[in-house]
Amino acid sequence: MEKYDVIIVGAGISGLLSALALSKHGNKVLVLEKNDFVGGNCNSYMVDGFQVDTGAHAITHLEVGPLRRLMDNYFDYMPVFEEYGHYYVRTEDSFVKVPSNVREFVTFDVLPRKDRIVVTQAITKALTLCTFGIDLSRQSVYDSMPGNLSQDTYDFVDAISYFLSGKDMKQTSAQRILAGSSFVRDSVPQEQIESIMNGNEKPQTEPVLKSILPSNLHTSLQTRMDRVSKPVSSLGRLATNRVSHSQGYPRKGLKALLNALLFSLPRSVEIKTRCKVSKILTTEGTVVGVEADEIYYADTVVHTGFVTDLPEMIVDLPASYVDELKGVVHTKSLTVWLGLDRVMDAFNYIGSEIWFKGCPYWAMPISNYDASLAPKGKQLVGFSFIIDNEKSEASQVSRAYETIYHAIPSIENHVEMKHEQITVPEKAAVTIDGYFAEIRTPVKNLYVAGTDTDKRSMGITRASYSVIELLKRLNEDGNLHK
Ligand SMILES: Cc1cc2nc3c(=O)[nH]c(=O)nc-3n(C[C@H](O)[C@H](O)[C@H](O)COP(=O)(O)OP(=O)(O)OC[C@H]3O[C@@H](n4cnc5c(N)ncnc54)[C@H](O)[C@@H]3O)c2cc1C
Repeated sequence: MEKYDVIIVGAGISGLLSALALSKHGNKVLVLEKNDFVGGNCNSYMVDGFQVDTGAHAITHLEVGPLRRLMDNYFDYMPVFEEYGHYYVRTEDSFVKVPSNVREFVTFDVLPRKDRIVVTQAITKALTLCTFGIDLSRQSVYDSMPGNLSQDTYDFVDAISYFLSGKDMKQTSAQRILAGSSFVRDSVPQEQIESIMNGNEKPQTEPVLKSILPSNLHTSLQTRMDRVSKPVSSLGRLATNRVSHSQGYPRKGLKALLNALLFSLPRSVEIKTRCKVSKILTTEGTVVGVEADEIYYADTVVHTGFVTDLPEMIVDLPASYVDELKGVVHTKSLTVWLGLDRVMDAFNYIGSEIWFKGCPYWAMPISNYDASLAPKGKQLVGFSFIIDNEKSEASQVSRAYETIYHAIPSIENHVEMKHEQITVPEKAAVTIDGYFAEIRTPVKNLYVAGTDTDKRSMGITRASYSVIELLKRLNEDGNLHK
């Protein structure tokens, strides 16, 4: 029986990025994927001549964020990212840019003037607190706002919260809004990646304080110290911020990112599709392999499916760990893709739009980035909605269409392709008390990675953060370099 250094469960972007890095560090890697395709949610496919993605995507923190660092260090060629453009707000009678900073917010006349002034004060206060190291991840957006605002303002803030965390403003943290609107910017220093690449278990010039603190504590301490040392640049963003700072959309669609990753994978990486892992096998508290269509053995296993599936897959997980996993919060989304028989004036922009009244959506005319995503002279627009698990999916799909036709009445006569996707965009929502799993599990040499193991940023950027954290842990445990 062949034995692998590492088995990776799941061939989404988290699993494939992990496979890429591990194989480039000399490991013999097997990736097992239950679907008959790879890429998970990071994918595109054809529907009646239009190339749709799995949900409308803006890729964030492209300048110095985690995906950029992984691409720079492990990809053999780079996908091209088109500049994201702007975020807009559509209402019955206006179409205006989403304010990026307090200066623009003051003139954002979609909301009442009185509300704009008090909300501006609340943003200034939150950013100031955050800049000086106060953790706002457990304070809700709702609690950070003044009372007595108009219904329109609450609806607007709720819509932004839904698209950044999957939950309403009472469950979304103030920190999430500041990061999601680019006021607070995360980055991964190249030196951090270099210490992983070079196999240094610890940075060589580690301060004494850092060496005695647990890693989660010194990471947050460093973040705080960095923020305090750069307060002027952060606070300066109150006036100069751009919501879409360092965001992009891959030319040729989302699958262009997947293709660049697959192209960079060494031939030694084996990928098996239609191969669902049902059990993770352990002996005396250490992982030894997995059971799928057959038994596969490895020294290390990385699970990138839902972390909440682990209790079904492993016997004798500690009860306290199983209980903690129950705290993970899931949300679902619906994306309606409409293929239009012409390029419409209503979508004459690069970027995306938000409709915030009643049934909020976030929409992206993706063929405006790349005309080849739609047949010649036609247009492709994706509208994403949050799904309420308590209500029937069919009724929410009908409501989504009603909302689109109400928001843009002229669209209905030009729809020649309709396609719906109901998906879980991230494996854990960033709510004020939602749980995120540690990369190391209670089973020795079993690790988890993916969007339910890191709170930072969203989607593909968050998946990339989790892979960097995974590489750090593997390096510290002597399981990265062969
Ligand atoms: C509507 C929508 C909008 C989005 N918008 C954005 C955006 O604007 N920006 C952004 O960055 N991201 C966005 N995302 C999110 C982003 O696409 C995902 O977070 C990211 O692709 C998740 O990658 P992952 O590998 O962690 O998980 P997944 O893509 O879920 O991959 C996990 C893989 O593991 C496989 N698997 C699970 N269990 C098993 C098992 N037991 N055996 C074998 N295989 C298994 C699954 O089949 C899957 O292929 C959006 C997603 C959606 C749906």
